[in-house]
Amino acid sequence: AFQLLRQTLGRRSLANPRAFSSASTPIRATLFPGDGIGPEIADSVKQIFQAADVPIEWEEHYVGTEIDPRTQSFLTWESLESVRRNGVGLKGPMATPIGKGHRSLNLTLRKELNLYANVRPCYSLPGYKTRYDNVNLITIRENTEGEYSGLEHQVVRGVVESLKIITRQASLRVAEYAFHYAKAHGRERVSAIHKANIMQKTDGLFLKCCREVAEKYPEITYEEVVIDNCCMMLVKNPALFDVLVMPNLYGDIISDLCAGLVGGLGLTPSCNIGEGGIALAEAVHGSAPDIAGKNLANPTALLLSGVAMLRHLNLHDKAELIQKAILNTIAEGKHRTADLGGSSKTTEFTQAIIDHL
Ligand code: NAD
Repeated sequence: AFQLLRQTLGRRSLANPRAFSSASTPIRATLFPGDGIGPEIADSVKQIFQAADVPIEWEEHYVGTEIDPRTQSFLTWESLESVRRNGVGLKGPMATPIGKGHRSLNLTLRKELNLYANVRPCYSLPGYKTRYDNVNLITIRENTEGEYSGLEHQVVRGVVESLKIITRQASLRVAEYAFHYAKAHGRERVSAIHKANIMQKTDGLFLKCCREVAEKYPEITYEEVVIDNCCMMLVKNPALFDVLVMPNLYGDIISDLCAGLVGGLGLTPSCNIGEGGIALAEAVHGSAPDIAGKNLANPTALLLSGVAMLRHLNLHDKAELIQKAILNTIAEGKHRTADLGGSSKTTEFTQAIIDHL
């Protein structure tokens, strides 16, 4: 099982020019603890990384209390500069107010740092039983456009319009990333997920770009699957899929569905990849306001995101050590958080992982 996971999370950093070859060099990385359960699970990551002697110096940045005119959001310009300077970071969840308000913090990060691909591995955890024991998927979500372009307005009273933007440039870039990822990680199939039968122009262009890139990778099987059918197939037999690439909103939805196949949002990590080798890792889940401040959150998703960040930095030994400790703790079953059916608090689960290092 560990062999499978190693393959899933990748032994190689994807052509990362900032990757370090030695574990002894201290590396500065930006940390956004974020909102809601964010600070609790970020504390867990800091403690476990420290116990594992990971040579990382965190540069912590909090969401500001006033709008920064340079970012048009509560995210400070200094925090963006920190990620640009360090090239790597770990981000806790950030709450987005529904309806009117400021520019979303997550959108600001993705746009300002040009985080064009969001990579979300999803795999069955050894020893933790769900309906499936063979899930091993990677969803790759276009991260900068689609329905997330923020272009919404009222046409006339009672009628609103929201624009979905798909560009050739962004579609080619994410498709190229998906095929490159598949090849680098020994994966065999890339499925482009779409609704081009209805969204003929937008999803049609997305597919056209995927096909163009697919031609450059004859060793990888390429297929196109309509999103509604994809949902049905995933629930029936997730082993039908390998790497999935899709426009922004579909990626958001499908990756939560995939999380549900392996035990929920407390488990699934992700990494945002930007131009110039920037990597900002984050859990798939949000700020979980229903359990915030109660010491109930499962830190696994953020921890595994931190592990992905370590692999991006070529700190494979540390990544392996921490990943094994997390998975062994869950497999052993004595210490699990409530979302996994256990009764351990976040802090107790954290200590159990440290004891497994
Ligand atoms: P959510 O992911 O925060 O929570 C959904 C459900 O999953 C809740 O019941 C929650 O308790 C549970 N859950 C999530 N993470 C968990 C964990 N680590 N351990 C245990 N249980 C966990 O989704 P939501 O409630 O729709 O969103 C809350 C806020 O988070 C919103 O403001 C939303 O915009 C924001 N959000 C942010 C991000 C991000 O920062 N990347 C992603 C998704 C949602």
